[in-house]
Amino acid sequence: MVVAASSQTLNFQAEVKEVLQLMIHSLYSNKEIFLRELISNASDALDKLRFGALEDAGLAQKNQDLKIHVDFDKDKRTITVSDNGIGMTHDEVISNLGTIAKSGTREFLKNLSGDQVKDAKLIGQFGVGFYSTFIIADKVTVLTRHAGSDEAVLWESDGQGTYTIKDTQKDEHGTQVTLHLKEGEDEFLSEYSLQNIISKYSDHISFPVLMLKDGKYETVNKATALWTCNKSEISEADYQGFYKHISHDFNDALAWTHNHVEGSTSYINLLYIPSQAPFDLFNRDYRRGIKLYVQRVFIMDEAENFMPHYLRFVRGVIDSSDLPLNVSREILQSNKVVETIRKGSVKKILNLLEDLAKNKAEKYQQFWDAFGEVFKEGTGEDFANKDQIAQLLRFASTHDVNAGQIVSLNDYINRMPSEQKHIYYVTADTLAAAKSSPHLEIFAKKNIEVLLLHHRVDEWMVSHLTEFQDKTLQAITKGELDLGDVENPEVDKSFTDLTAKFKELLANEVKDVRTTHRLTESPACLVSDNFDMGRQMQKMLEAAGQAVPIAKPILELNPYHPLIEKLHQDLNQPQLIDWAHLLLDQAILAEGGQLSDPALFVKRMNKLLI
Ligand code: ADP
Ligand code: MG
Repeated sequence: MVVAASSQTLNFQAEVKEVLQLMIHSLYSNKEIFLRELISNASDALDKLRFGALEDAGLAQKNQDLKIHVDFDKDKRTITVSDNGIGMTHDEVISNLGTIAKSGTREFLKNLSGDQVKDAKLIGQFGVGFYSTFIIADKVTVLTRHAGSDEAVLWESDGQGTYTIKDTQKDEHGTQVTLHLKEGEDEFLSEYSLQNIISKYSDHISFPVLMLKDGKYETVNKATALWTCNKSEISEADYQGFYKHISHDFNDALAWTHNHVEGSTSYINLLYIPSQAPFDLFNRDYRRGIKLYVQRVFIMDEAENFMPHYLRFVRGVIDSSDLPLNVSREILQSNKVVETIRKGSVKKILNLLEDLAKNKAEKYQQFWDAFGEVFKEGTGEDFANKDQIAQLLRFASTHDVNAGQIVSLNDYINRMPSEQKHIYYVTADTLAAAKSSPHLEIFAKKNIEVLLLHHRVDEWMVSHLTEFQDKTLQAITKGELDLGDVENPEVDKSFTDLTAKFKELLANEVKDVRTTHRLTESPACLVSDNFDMGRQMQKMLEAAGQAVPIAKPILELNPYHPLIEKLHQDLNQPQLIDWAHLLLDQAILAEGGQLSDPALFVKRMNKLLI
């Protein structure tokens, strides 16, 4: 039986259709990036072939004269980018050019606003890629042959929702992408304009990019691996262009560090800090890490052993001659050389951040706003660099509640009176809840600064970062407060009958009731013992599916508040039990907590209002 080479028409995955439409609309003013993306993909494909050739004799034969061609045809109005790299099989074409595999894509698309300028930035973070060709093309064909196969595939689409795919023949392995330009895009059909774009975005690609000139192919890029060059030979634009190639990020990098390290372990690292957090940074399966090269041969993407988890946003390249070419992910996991490179690279990143913090405050703030929440994990993860990490932390603070997260622990210590023993903080689910915590009242009155922590990771952080420069970090909601002269034993004493009564009435809910030194305006607040787990931490553990020991709070009453004074006058009134619960529930609400029975709260309140 003879099977005719059939052509199949398939639908793009729904997400692809949306991304395509968005891309075309929001990136139109940057349409020239299509060429950067195609050359970037070609370069990746050449890297993969070279890597494959390390183990596969069949591929090794094909690992020669690796290069990229860029051609155009004025009459047919086409631009073609071809490579002799790894190519794609039939199935790979379908999954690579018809679907988007990233998890979180759905949610990402839902969050777009429809505002083109904003969306352009977001879609850039998402990764632009192959689909950017449809910004200027109304038909794209991809002819590709996997280097390990004799069969070739022809893919074709107008970017409107479907594509066709059929089996065919191709002389050489590799991929050829042809763009049929839309009406009005003829500006790209010239040697001058294409070469300009290549110089602008792809000079640093390590393989030669060739264009036809006077009947002969000539290399039009520098074609050296950027990281191997001397810093003095590399322009800022080169660094940024290279960043976009390796990170698949559309935005500029915020900062980078580039080092040629010689010694018992020799390696080069070029590490970047992005300017914006990727949309999937907090996804469990966020792809992270460094591109690993060994003696300039690409080995793997996302080599995660070179960066600790709290620096998972760092992108870049590490190239070492001290690792074997056949290194695997398993070997990387416990390898002395990797350990050394990782240590050195972490140090470089921390030094880079320190330098930004000292000399480029605005950039540092941008870093902090994008990645601070992740970076804080370093307090528990990286003991060796604990102090340097602590210096880099930034917090919102009562010093200026509207200024954002700008206060460092050093700022705090420099401002506080020398006799103050603690660095005070309050944790809450949101900044708004932290700002209006009743616990802050006495601190405001006494003019003591309090850090406002409102990230999920914060309680975990303070469980590791217990002190900084001999000052202990102290939650203002925990333990007995010792602020010196505010204690008033006389009032304390006269209210013991009230607190004892409340304790009896609320025996199931609280472990103690006492008068407070913390409040000036509110009638009541909750505190916990110093060693009890905070509420945020409890929530975090619960979310992770762990059983959490329930610690009952302590209720503190403000003896100066008229309501408390009034209750104290008649301890036998029948409504006292309702008042006790109401005050407890109020205190929970005031710190942004949730009531276990909100309806009961409302009922009690109404009863007392009548
Ligand atoms: P990304 O490069 O970020 O993975 P792209 O949209 O640019 O995303 O490309 C999608 C996928 O298509 C690539 O990951 C790769 O597997 C495949 N691909 C694209 N161009 C080529 C090419 N020239 N040779 C081989 N595979 C390619
Ligand atoms: Mg790509």
